[in-house]
Amino acid sequence: MSKSLQAIRGMNDILPEQTPLWRYFEGTVARLLDNYGYKQIRMPIVEFTELFKRSIGEVTDIVEKEMYTFEDRNGDSLTLRPEGTAACVRAVLEHGITGGGQVQKLWYIGPMFRHERPQKGRYRQFHQIGLEVFNLDGPDIDAELITMTWRLWGELGIRDAVKLELNSLGTSESRGRYREALVEYLSAHHDKLDEDSQRRLKTNPLRVLDTKNADTQAVLVDAPKMADYLDDESRAHFEGLKARLDAVGIPYVLNPKLVRGLDYYSKTVFEWVTDKLGAQGTVCAGGRYDGLVEQMGGKPTTGVGFAMGIERLVLMLETLEQIPEEISRQVDVYLCAFGEEAELAGLALAERVRDQLPNLRLQVNAGAGSFKSQFKKADKSGALYALILGDDEMAQQLVGFKPLRGQGEQQSIAWDALAAHLATCVVQG
Ligand code: ATP
Ligand code: MG
Repeated sequence: MSKSLQAIRGMNDILPEQTPLWRYFEGTVARLLDNYGYKQIRMPIVEFTELFKRSIGEVTDIVEKEMYTFEDRNGDSLTLRPEGTAACVRAVLEHGITGGGQVQKLWYIGPMFRHERPQKGRYRQFHQIGLEVFNLDGPDIDAELITMTWRLWGELGIRDAVKLELNSLGTSESRGRYREALVEYLSAHHDKLDEDSQRRLKTNPLRVLDTKNADTQAVLVDAPKMADYLDDESRAHFEGLKARLDAVGIPYVLNPKLVRGLDYYSKTVFEWVTDKLGAQGTVCAGGRYDGLVEQMGGKPTTGVGFAMGIERLVLMLETLEQIPEEISRQVDVYLCAFGEEAELAGLALAERVRDQLPNLRLQVNAGAGSFKSQFKKADKSGALYALILGDDEMAQQLVGFKPLRGQGEQQSIAWDALAAHLATCVVQG
């Protein structure tokens, strides 16, 4: 195929054989979020570039080198969203739905875009389910977010394969004091830092903590710790969160180097990580961002949220073989009809059955075909039962009912009794 007809590198088609698992995952999350009282919000995929620069921070990896930015026909600079929080904050401000301290518990789902090096678990178009809560500032809501994800891992059967890492970044004041101490320490070891870290020391020193470079990591061992600089309020908040996680029985490890890639976090930050996906180990990440709304021009409004990467979680379900059996079967019943007259009767019969059993997955053979070829298609569809309409059945207004997976004998059923019979033998989702 010529190059111009290929998908863009790092942007994947999700093929029909993959979508059942995606829908299972997305459906499980959506149901859980509904049950905890969260409401869905949908934002555009494109926003003014300025929005991301202002919210994510100019000297972050995302803004410096990962954004898909272009000029539209009006000459405006637009960007394909690299994450959801910025647009969500923009939307709640624009519509005034967090004004006067109104609580909002929101979630969203959709594609995000970052120009990164594509590899397993890292793509240029990827998908997130994200969640943001506004105007609740206590550790109880941080704990609820984490508890909800914990329940999700349980429902998906991957709880044993993920680990919760936790840190507190404090308020911006205590973070400022810590930043000074860190800069002073790292400046004294400037020559031992890798080039990237030397640069970050000037632009965004906390990000040095995030380095993958072994020499810099060695320097960091004796660096000042954020925990020693936490103000009383942040400390109490963090203790409150840990007490709640303990109460539910959610294990965690404290990771003082966890700073997250975006500038806007304060107090709680957390990541769910796994060792099942190689280098791309973070499946869900988030934290509190009490200063962001004000920074974006709103009234002081606290916020906390997280985002999970759908590709990575789907990969985990596949890797750990946690794929529920029912999603591999897409068809319950397959109707075969032989001859024009039987096809007409079959179509009408299928619609009558669908009226009575709206959840039945009934596929009607299309494209006619011999006895043998229709049965082959019925079997390949994965259906549990075939329904047969041939000359004999037509003459007696019956339909042949044939189990395809070895569950019982073939029998004939009156047209009027078909729906009732199917209701007894097909478990409907
Ligand atoms: P990483 O450290 O892996 O680059 P990040 O800190 O940049 O992640 P966030 O911005 O916190 O990621 O996004 C939340 C989640 O979205 C990540 O934990 C991950 O599961 C997923 N994610 C982020 N970037 C990508 C990507 N390029 N491809 C696939 N999933 C991604
Ligand atoms: Mg990243």
